[in-house]
Amino acid sequence: MRKFHRISSMQRWSQAQRRAGRRIGFVPTMGALHDGHLALVRRCRRENDLVVMSVFVNPIQFAPGEDLDAYPRDKKRDILLAEGAKVDIMFFPTREEMFPPGYATYVDVEGVSSVLCGASRPGHFRGVATVVAKLLHIVQPDTLYLGRKDYQQCVVLKRMIRDLDFPVRVRTVPTVREPDGLAMSSRNRYLDEGDRRRAVVLHRSLLEGRRTVRAGERDAGKILRRIRRRIEAEEGRIDYIVCVDPSDLKPVKRIHGRVLVAAAVKWGRARLIDNMIFNGGV
Ligand code: AMP
Repeated sequence: MRKFHRISSMQRWSQAQRRAGRRIGFVPTMGALHDGHLALVRRCRRENDLVVMSVFVNPIQFAPGEDLDAYPRDKKRDILLAEGAKVDIMFFPTREEMFPPGYATYVDVEGVSSVLCGASRPGHFRGVATVVAKLLHIVQPDTLYLGRKDYQQCVVLKRMIRDLDFPVRVRTVPTVREPDGLAMSSRNRYLDEGDRRRAVVLHRSLLEGRRTVRAGERDAGKILRRIRRRIEAEEGRIDYIVCVDPSDLKPVKRIHGRVLVAAAVKWGRARLIDNMIFNGGV
């Protein structure tokens, strides 16, 4: 595995590989790798000649007061895990090179960026879209791999790629979970023992909601209220819990066809997100 720290080295390597006709798959991350990240790598490995993973804790997607400084960083461990998963290139851009003094260009994906996580974290998706646009220009992959745990991020980035004609395909990968169902996340390590136990309710309550839909319930409001009560009973502080159209994230009141139920909940200083597709049939 090779490591690059400079934008120009990364870009030159990608240009040479593309000229040689090799297919490049790309997995962007913020590091503190876990099996969720590695699932993206495995899929990428199967479908490409070369796998590039970036590790960059992107400062412009954190608002002041959020966990930018506390965000877990463990470069040595990340390198070992990436090597084990047969990543070809690890790219560690520096903040200074990505956002030098005088940096002034941002990508704003309107509408889908301002709801759900975008409503509680203003500017977050502007930061995400901007950094991913830059990384796509640097890495020049054929295919980009994203995790469905961050469902809204997938919607925002697909829209950016379509609207700005990036010559890149997007593949999304199902959420990887701990044995008890909690979605793997670098932020799970913020949970203390008690909250870690309580936080499984996030996934469990979504599973229960899905069962209710399978049993015939079609009223989104009723289902959301039940999920909310279950989470609050486990001391979760709900940021949002919504039922939306999975393609444009607009609210849905009656469940017909596929809908997305997505939630963000805090326990202690950990803010966790999860989501599930419910299918109400036609
Ligand atoms: P992050 O390092 O948290 O920015 O995540 C990098 C990529 O890994 C994103 O595309 C995430 O959606 C994806 N990812 C994070 N956690 C999981 C998970 N538990 N299952 C699947 N993909 C994930």
